[in-house]
Amino acid sequence: MHAHALLLHGATGDGLFEAAQAITQAWLCEATAPGAARPCGQCAACHLVAGGMHPDLHRLLPEDLRLQLGVLQAAEGEGGDADGNTKGKRKPSRQIRIDDVRAAIDWVATTSSRGRAKVVLIHPAETMNLQSANALLKTLEEPPRGARLLLTAAEPERLLPTVRSRCQVLRLPSPSADVARQWLQQRGLAQPDVLLAASSGRPLDALAMAAAGVDAERWAGLPAAVLQRQVAWLAGWSLPRVLDALQKLCHDGLALLAGGSPRFFPASCLKRPATVQALAAWSRDLAQVARRIDHPWNEGLLLDALLQRAQAAWAGQGPLSDTLQP
Ligand SMILES: [Zn+2]
Repeated sequence: MHAHALLLHGATGDGLFEAAQAITQAWLCEATAPGAARPCGQCAACHLVAGGMHPDLHRLLPEDLRLQLGVLQAAEGEGGDADGNTKGKRKPSRQIRIDDVRAAIDWVATTSSRGRAKVVLIHPAETMNLQSANALLKTLEEPPRGARLLLTAAEPERLLPTVRSRCQVLRLPSPSADVARQWLQQRGLAQPDVLLAASSGRPLDALAMAAAGVDAERWAGLPAAVLQRQVAWLAGWSLPRVLDALQKLCHDGLALLAGGSPRFFPASCLKRPATVQALAAWSRDLAQVARRIDHPWNEGLLLDALLQRAQAAWAGQGPLSDTLQP
C-alpha cells in the first residue's frame, strides 16, 4: 500500500497507538532480504523507532498524552527550543496545537536522514483543533516527496471532512476473544474473560484496569458491594472509573429487565432490579454526573451519594429528587 496519507480507524483499547507505531516502523524498516517481513524488528531503523530516536519519524501527540505514553518530542529533532520555553508553566495541553502542526509541516519538507521516508504520526487526529487541522490540509493533499502521514482516530466522524477525504482509511480490526484472552493470560491476568467483558472486549483497557487494581474478583464483586453501599470496595478507584462501572451496572440491570443477558458483569453476580422506570431515571442521573465529571467534587461525599442512588434505583425507588451538586 502506498497511500501518502493513511487514516487508521480503531479503538484505543484495541491498541490503536501501538498499531500506528508498528505501521510507521514498517514504513521506515530497512530490511533488505527479498520478501522480508516489515517491520523486521532487527535492523537499525527498527531499533531507532522502538527507542523513539528515529530521525525520520515525527510523532505529533497532545502534550498530556505524550507525557502519559512517555513519547518524547525533543529526541525527534524538531523545535525543541520552542517547546522548552513553555514547559512547566501550564497544564499539559489536550490538543494538538497549530504551532506543533506547523513545526511538523516544516520538518517533513526537509531531506530524509536515512533515505527511506519522512513519517509524521498524528495521534489521535481528533485532538487537532480546527486551526491545526486546517493548517495540515495542504500537506495532506500534496505531501512533499518522500513524506508519509499516518493519522489515527477512534471517531473519524469528528474529523474535518476535508481531512478525512484526503486520507486512505484503514480499519484496525478488534482482536478475537481468543486472541485477546491469550494475550492477557500471557501477561499474568487471572480470569481474563471477566475483565474483557468489563472493558467491552478491549484487551488494552482490560490490562489497564488490572494495573489500576481492578482485578476480576473486585469487578465481579462490585454489584453486591454497590447495592450494600460498601464505599470501601471502590477504594482507590478514580471517579471516572467509578462512574463508568456504575453506568455499566445500570446497563446490565436494564438488560436483565428486558430479558437479555448482561454484557459487562457475570450474570451470576447480578440480582434482578425492581423496575425499569427507576433504572432509567438512574441512568439519566449518572449521565448528568458524567457530563460534569471535571467539576471539583468532594469525592467521598459524591461516592456515597452515588451508591445510595444505586441502591435506591435497584430497589425500584426514585429518582431521588435532589440533583447532585459539586
Ligand atoms: Zn527493520
